[in-house]
Amino acid sequence: MSKLALAIHGGAGTILRSQMTPDKEAIYRKALEDALEAGYKVLHEGGAALDAVVAAVVSLEDCEWFNAGKGSVFTHQGHHEMDASLMDGQTGRAGAVAGVRLIKNPILLAQSIMDHSEHILLSGEGAMAFAQEHGLAFEDDAYFYTTHRYKQWQKALLEDRTLLDHDDRETDNDLDEKKFGTVGAVACDVHGHLAAATSTGGMTNKKYNRIGDSPLIGCGTYANNRTCAVSCTGHGEKFIQAVAAYDVHCLMEYKGLSLQEALRIVVNEKLLRIRGEGGIIGVDACGNTAMIFNSEGMYRARKEAGGVKEIAIYK
Ligand code: ASP
Repeated sequence: MSKLALAIHGGAGTILRSQMTPDKEAIYRKALEDALEAGYKVLHEGGAALDAVVAAVVSLEDCEWFNAGKGSVFTHQGHHEMDASLMDGQTGRAGAVAGVRLIKNPILLAQSIMDHSEHILLSGEGAMAFAQEHGLAFEDDAYFYTTHRYKQWQKALLEDRTLLDHDDRETDNDLDEKKFGTVGAVACDVHGHLAAATSTGGMTNKKYNRIGDSPLIGCGTYANNRTCAVSCTGHGEKFIQAVAAYDVHCLMEYKGLSLQEALRIVVNEKLLRIRGEGGIIGVDACGNTAMIFNSEGMYRARKEAGGVKEIAIYK
């Protein structure tokens, strides 16, 4: 028997208790709680896992404190290029979008691509034309402007660095400029169907239309009713090399490992071996959730039927 379950993340990185203020922490906890409840409400009302993960991710994309949607980081050219993907564990259907600008909720575009096209992954201008044709909401550049992101970008420009939210520790001592992560959600619904979704602004000061793991099915996102649904956050290049999300599924399917054990091996052994910093959240076919990371912290929350509820930031 499976149970209703939802887990979310708001990115992993150098999130230190010593550098957090009570006010900031309260803002993050509230944002995580809102997203968790938005997703869980869908499950509670008998909705599909897929709709639950989309609801949770939309809530996180609309929050300026996470690196997705409204809070997306600046590219080298001073734009915001966003990536997102989602996968339905029941059918294996998936949708994804890479390098889009001005789209209010990239996860809704990924869902629309899944539902209304014969493709899985669309990118750039073409994806934006698709969004226009399908009535997705656009915003202007001002919507995506946030002071903390702008400062973060200016600093990266000066240092000529491309920053992950995860590797800016040595040069960055302003809390506002750090550790705002990619967002994601995984869910198990009343029918035992699983789904996963991930959305990101990628890396600060990124060039050349760089794309990470988040829009890649099997790397940043994966769902299969037989095993698990997972969403990743961290150093995208390493997660691509590790085919991280699909590897969690493989360890469960071929080796019969539990979700917890599969996540531990991928995050704390395989990714660490290639210096891949980050974390993964997952839910298994019984509705058990797990959230594992090898960085200092990961914004995360989970709720399972039967009373389990957790909102956490640090190790
Ligand atoms: N994985 C994302 C990327 O590489 C970044 C993150 O998770 O913060 O684009």
